[in-house]
This record gives sequence, C-alpha cells and structure tokens, in this order.
Amino acid sequence: MITDRMPVLGAFLEDNLWFRNARSVFPSLTRVCTTSVATGAWPGRHGIVNNQFHLGGDLSGPLVDTARIDQLLELKDRSGAIVTADSLGQRLAAEGRSMLAIHCGSAGSGFLVNHTVHELGHRTFSIHGADATLTPDIVPEILAACGPLPGDEAPKLDTVAYTGRVATKVALAQDQADVTLVWLPEPDTSFHFCGIHSDGAEQAMRAADAVFAEILQSVADGPNAGSTAVIAMSDHGQIATSALIDLAGRLRADGFRAGEAPGDDTDILLTGGNMGELRPIKPDPGLIADLGHWLMQRDEIGMVFADPAHVEGAFSPEVVHQTHARSADLLYVMRSDEMPGPGGIPGIGVYTGGVPLGGGMHGGLNQYEMNTVLGFSLPDGRCAMDDTPASLIDIAPTILSLVGSSIGGDGRVLPVFEAEPELAEVEILKAGRGDFHQRLVRSRIAGRSYLIEGGRA
Ligand SMILES: [Zn+2]
Repeated sequence: MITDRMPVLGAFLEDNLWFRNARSVFPSLTRVCTTSVATGAWPGRHGIVNNQFHLGGDLSGPLVDTARIDQLLELKDRSGAIVTADSLGQRLAAEGRSMLAIHCGSAGSGFLVNHTVHELGHRTFSIHGADATLTPDIVPEILAACGPLPGDEAPKLDTVAYTGRVATKVALAQDQADVTLVWLPEPDTSFHFCGIHSDGAEQAMRAADAVFAEILQSVADGPNAGSTAVIAMSDHGQIATSALIDLAGRLRADGFRAGEAPGDDTDILLTGGNMGELRPIKPDPGLIADLGHWLMQRDEIGMVFADPAHVEGAFSPEVVHQTHARSADLLYVMRSDEMPGPGGIPGIGVYTGGVPLGGGMHGGLNQYEMNTVLGFSLPDGRCAMDDTPASLIDIAPTILSLVGSSIGGDGRVLPVFEAEPELAEVEILKAGRGDFHQRLVRSRIAGRSYLIEGGRA
C-alpha cells in the first residue's frame, strides 16, 4: 500500500533505515500508543491503559475518555497523576532543549504527546484550537501564518494540507525546536470511516505523502539539514471490520448485569471496540472467573487476559505489559484473522462498535494492527532493512540518545548507526480451556519483550 499510494514515504524507507518488524503496544489504540511514544514506556508504567477506561478503586465515577482534555485533567484529581512515567518533553526540558508538537489528531492525543508542555517552556499546537492545547498562545501565530483552521470531515484532506503548511511555514522555518513532532490524522480517520480499501483512504494516503515530501524538502533546505534526523512512523495499523457484535447485550442475555456506565442495574462495567475491559464494580474474583470463562465460550472472542490463577486458560495481563494499578483485571480481544478483507488487503475481525461496519479498526494484537511504519534517516546513519524487533517505546530513548541524553524507560536505543550484534529470540505463548485456544508471539532482545502478534489459535 505504501509503495503504490505513498511513493515518497516508500522511497524514504527503502533508501534509509527501515524497521520492517516495528510494532505497536497493547492495546494498539492511539492515546495508549501516543503515551508510549511520549514516555518510552509500556502502558503498564505510563498509565494510559486504554483509550477509554473505568478507574479502578473509583468505579462510581465516570469512564475516563482520553480523547477529552477535561477528563485527562480530572484524572489527576481522581488518581494523583495523568501520565505516571517521565516524558520525552520533560527529559528534553531538563537538558535545556525544546520540543514543538504540531498535532492534527484528537485533542487527547495532542495533550498526551507532551502532557506538561505548559510547565516546560515547550509548545504544542492542536488542530482543535486554543481550547485543546495547554499552550494556546501558539494558535494565533499559526492562524496568521497558515489561515483559518480546516473542517473535520473524512477524508481530512484539508487538515492534512494544513498540517503541511504549519510544518513548513512555522515548525521547520528558521527558529526550529530541538525536536519537532508533526502528527497527521490520516490515513487513520479515512481507514476508520471510509474503509481501508476506499477512494477516501487512497486520497488521504496521497495527501499525507505530499506533506511528507514537503517536510523532507523543508528539512533539506533548512539551516540544520546536516544535523537533522527524520523519523517516519505510525502508531498502529488497522484491520477491516466484518461483523458488529453486541457484547453487552449478549452478556445481559446470559444474566450478567453489564453496562457501559455505573447504574442501578449494572454490576460490571465494560468498554468495547476491537478489544475492551470488563470490571466488576465490587471486587469479585468469582465473577471475573465466570466472565472469563463465558468469554472463552464465545466464537467471536479472540483472546482473554486475566490472572490465570483465577481464570484458567487466560493469559496474564503481565505478558502484554498491562501491569498498571489502572489496568483492568479482565481484558478481551475480539476475534480476527489474517484473511484478505475488502480489496484483498489482509486482516479482518469482528468488533463491538465505534466505526461503521466495514470500516477499519485497531486495538487488538492482529499483526496487521500491530505492525507500524518506522524509518529513520540521519546523517551518518545506517541504510538497511532491519528485521530486529522495535516498538513505540524505543522512539523516545532513540531521540534522546541522538541529543546526548537518556530516559530511564522500558525501551531501548535503536541501532541507528551500527547493526545490533545480538539476535532476537522469538517466543510463542499458548493458553486455553476447552475449545478455546489462544497464542501470543513475542520477541526478546536486549532484555526486553516485544509484542509481535496474537490471536485465537
Ligand atoms: Zn484510529
């Protein structure tokens, strides 16, 4: 798809250093991913454990929707912190370095790329305007240079073009930050709402490629061309949706009082999509076991994560780095496979809602959700296709190493100058009960365990 629709990105990856086995985190959802990029940490340490989650210990409160800045700020009041790991922005600021984010995805994701930006002397621009950034002073400057903010319809071609103008006229103009992040909302939005195999998605990819070309040209023409690294990346992939499942309805039909919000007739809170959590309102290991085994009896369920001491056949949440105090005791992933979907593009699965049927989704561990784009071009850097595992958690440590700093984190500094001597070791975990069998593939290198793919076996 990249070669056909994004020739500039395709050539960039072919001509430079391309981590072909780069992977997302679990769940492969944008605000979880964003925070892993921003901290070099797995969700188990940074604490943004899902795009939406119920807060353990305070289940009477509302769902935390990380797309919303007001709810992220409330998270601090409710649990003492928003992000619980050091961020790239904080590390850069400690070294006297600057970071500018041009963020044209969701307001929550723009917040999480540098969540204390206003305290650091850094700046973040959000396409959602002054109310969606902690540094609103940047917005009038960008409006003056680039014109009024675009609309929000998919495919977001106007937003993509606007992002390009901000990147080239402001971010990469004369007064550059030490680290500049440019975040495009496409092709993610079009994959979701038009379908992965759609004219809208193709237009969005072509538009994104044109912006990438402008960025490369701007760097090449800029004052720091000889000392600038360019990293091209995505935070997840997508698969097509093939059937909509009313999981809450099926739970209720079988006697479980499940719902999406606290209420008189609700004992269990759930979230959905390609994956989700199930939390009993009152701690109840017996109920967790009943729910876990109910999930395993369903054809539409792909994976189940819970303490295997209570839920036989489950994977421990630890194996996917979901070890935060906020992590749910019971997580499920909807069933998917690698069969071709619309247009012959591989990866389809069932889901519980969030996009129109046939639209793209992500969140689970299907390899087509987990595989990300990750390419580097840097002065004196390697040019190679590298198959060693890499993940979102490695971005911040690698950027910091390039500016001579480090982050105490989960990720490693990627081998951008010399190939790594160590070979990765693949491990395949299996679990199951009755007719339910699940597998998880991980790859170990440098003392770290990368998530490669998983699903129903
Ligand atoms: Zn998305």
